[in-house]
Amino acid sequence: MTLTPKNSGWIEVICGSMFSGKTEELIRRIRRAEIAKMNTIIFKPNIDNRYSSNHIVSHNQSKMESILVEDINEILENSTEMDVIGIDEAQFFSNELIPVCKKLAKDNKRVVVAGLDTDFKGIPFGPMPALMCESDFLDKLRAICVKCGNPASFSQRITKDSKQVLIGETDVYEARCRNCFKIVED
Ligand code: ZN
Repeated sequence: MTLTPKNSGWIEVICGSMFSGKTEELIRRIRRAEIAKMNTIIFKPNIDNRYSSNHIVSHNQSKMESILVEDINEILENSTEMDVIGIDEAQFFSNELIPVCKKLAKDNKRVVVAGLDTDFKGIPFGPMPALMCESDFLDKLRAICVKCGNPASFSQRITKDSKQVLIGETDVYEARCRNCFKIVED
């Protein structure tokens, strides 16, 4: 990003498959904002007990403190004094996240949203497609296909569970390229 808006907020979206480095990139951007002495905060959805820690953690184990959100309004309530607002795992929020991000940007905040663009069936995930359209800056990251080594844009679920929300690590998902990605039928 070479040119950023003056006297205005904006929305940055970091999307991609599992293992594409989205959280790592979110942490990198928030750290740099902190070095620049900006007030920062990170939110993530409370969707599962396994997520009930107050940190976001990337696959390479870098981590940052975050606020676990039960009610979407907590994002606005906790952001009034903030310059830069990070939101991780944005795909798990409802579509109410879209007006929230727009409101923050309108209030001159820099909003950095990270999330899966598609689910394990390859279908656009939650509020992510709309946020990608609303974004001023958009990065789609790719992982590496574990089957063939191509750039990977898909998250292959390697268990039989067909719930859209199934949280897990390397034992539940693999990064796959378009050729190696297989849609799991119910
Ligand atoms: Zn492949």
